[in-house]
Amino acid sequence: MRGALGGPRVLLRRLREVMAEPVSAQDRLDKIVVLIAANMVAEVCSVYVLRVDQTLELYATEGLNRDAVHLTVMRVDEGLVGHVAREAESLALSDAQAHPEFAYRPETGEEIYNSFLGVPILRGGNTLGVLVVQNRARRTYTEEEIEALQTTAMVLAEMIASGELTALAKPGAEPAIRRPVHLKGVPLADGLGLGYVVLHEPRIKVTNVIADDVMKETERLDAAIGKLRHAIDAMLEDDGLSKAGEHRDILEAYRMFAHDRGWMHKMREAVLSGLTAEGAVERVQSDTRARMMRASDPYLRERLHDLDDLANRLLRELTGRGRGMEREALPENAILVARNMSPAALLDYDRARIRGLVLEEGGTTSHVTIVARALGIAAVGQVENAAGLADQGDPVIVDGQAGEVHLRPPGDVEEAYAEKVRYRARRQAQYAALRTRPSVTKDGLHIDLHLNAGLLVDLPHIAETGASGIGLFRTELQFMIASTFPRISEQLKLYRAVLDAAGERPVTFRTLDIGGDKVLPYMRAVEEENPALGWRAIRLGLDRPGLLRSQVRALLRAGAGRELRVMFPMVAAVEEFDHARAIVERELTHLRKHGHGLPDRVFVGAMVEVPSLLFQLDEILARADFLSVGSNDLVQFLYAADRSNMRVADRFDPLSAPALRAFRMVAEAGSRHGKPITLCGELASRPLEAVALAALGYRSLSVSPASIGPVKATLLELDVAAARKVLLPLLDDRTGTVDIRATLRAFALASGLAL
Ligand code: PEP
Ligand code: MG
Repeated sequence: MRGALGGPRVLLRRLREVMAEPVSAQDRLDKIVVLIAANMVAEVCSVYVLRVDQTLELYATEGLNRDAVHLTVMRVDEGLVGHVAREAESLALSDAQAHPEFAYRPETGEEIYNSFLGVPILRGGNTLGVLVVQNRARRTYTEEEIEALQTTAMVLAEMIASGELTALAKPGAEPAIRRPVHLKGVPLADGLGLGYVVLHEPRIKVTNVIADDVMKETERLDAAIGKLRHAIDAMLEDDGLSKAGEHRDILEAYRMFAHDRGWMHKMREAVLSGLTAEGAVERVQSDTRARMMRASDPYLRERLHDLDDLANRLLRELTGRGRGMEREALPENAILVARNMSPAALLDYDRARIRGLVLEEGGTTSHVTIVARALGIAAVGQVENAAGLADQGDPVIVDGQAGEVHLRPPGDVEEAYAEKVRYRARRQAQYAALRTRPSVTKDGLHIDLHLNAGLLVDLPHIAETGASGIGLFRTELQFMIASTFPRISEQLKLYRAVLDAAGERPVTFRTLDIGGDKVLPYMRAVEEENPALGWRAIRLGLDRPGLLRSQVRALLRAGAGRELRVMFPMVAAVEEFDHARAIVERELTHLRKHGHGLPDRVFVGAMVEVPSLLFQLDEILARADFLSVGSNDLVQFLYAADRSNMRVADRFDPLSAPALRAFRMVAEAGSRHGKPITLCGELASRPLEAVALAALGYRSLSVSPASIGPVKATLLELDVAAARKVLLPLLDDRTGTVDIRATLRAFALASGLAL
């Protein structure tokens, strides 16, 4: 077979010439099928392209009836071609008609062909079409021929991906690579983002897949693999970086793959079939992806990410191209798409150009989510294969409210969203008009609306929203986005900036709430069975008093000459509060002794987020100057439902008797003791929930920046006394059958409240 017509190498060389010819797309395809048929001594060679409607259209053929080109269309669930597309795997048959899925298409006249070899046209593991050769005689296709056809399919994949074939398509029947995709995920940060895909870690585009010199390509591949192994070993040896739990596991997995013989072997084989080193990496990775994407085993899918990463590193090694997009190259309306991202990486982008964030992973309370919310970037998480389906520069819509992503949206969807954006803008303008209005209910009760914050980027929100102050400053965020422990001077600088930005308005700093899911990349992670119930927050602070002391010192110094408010997270027993407060007193004494300026007054409070504190309210209120309910954690612990586990996080409604009774207990104990009570969990950021809290007696709420407007708009129209009349009897009902949310909602709507 090879002798007469030159074999696979000659085919690839000729292909490269055809690719370089200045001819139309159809002519190029026609030449390619003629070339393949001649080279493989096949009577038939055809190209089928997968269309947006998930059917396969015949785009070119040598041997079948040419009139059938662009007319023959098959579903993916019919025929052998459909089989190859669906399974994303090659199929070689010497008696095609005996295959149960053989389907006869009279217009193509293919009944006389017995042998069939079909290979999927793959890119990034996604099927773009099918390439087929057929022979009249019954024959067995060799491994070498199958390889050669797969390599040719890669060239076609690039042709399809480049958009070159789109001009040949009828409207509405374009190649599937451009097809609109509607993806569902989990809402992470509210907002709508319309823009263009920026892949956070883009796949390196391989344009040159056919080798000039096989020996040279083999050497290049070997050298790149050697460098990759070396780099991974070096990372593993780097003490500072790699000791922290998961990071090290990932690197270990990389090391294992980088030394995996099967992987190496497949890539070397691909180079020997005539591909460039980068072509070989891409081809093996695409095959692996196609196979693994069909696996339902989560472990395998996780490994797929690792392999993707590794293949990309190898490509970077081979092409010498760096990662990510240059800052200047970022488009005006960028939508970042990534598997996952650290908060620091998100902050590295030019905020002014980012409109949205799409993550394959990411939970509602993960750190990058908190940062996205702070930046006001619409974000959706848990979007399966988002980075695999999106291409750099694709138009995309992120709906952070519904948790949906529209990739390459059709015109009508785009129109509908443009209208939504205009509507939101009008509403935002209405909220902005409320900025200076005091937050007073219809029946004259002041309900202060504070901000939740944690980063410098949050500070402009104080003025923009007209918030009464910062009700929760999450100091751990500064630690989480840093690569080493922030020094006292750095902490001091941030706290001063926060107090300066707030001016006369109060700021409540929460001391470090790390541990649990809030991991510091530079601090050795402690393996714990149940991290949420483990060594975290004030527990860690008291066991490592040096850390807490230095933070308290920075806070006290930043607050010199003003009022300072500090609170401790996760207090479970009043003794913990006593110890923590003693640290504040000791630091005050220390600073006084050394002649530093001191705050005019220091208010020390506790967060109520562990249920045990609900049963020590009188004791804690006798000691603390104020309390703040951390409903995110309190609800998680009350219901024993992990807030970051999507399966259970929303299983229990906080607008039901158990949680509301707990919130009421705190509010009532606060009034008994004459101490201020705030609620700073995400709950307060939702208007209907804010109505319930006002009815329970809360006169201060701390919410996310984007929620100040909507919550204030609702509260301004609220008659708290009327809401109490509706809510309190429901709380005292002991039948267990009342639907508090529905009843409260009906009340709100009947009262004309905007929800
Ligand atoms: C809470 O638990 O409600 C809270 C505000 O703290 P965090 O979300 O930071 O745990
Ligand atoms: Mg908490």
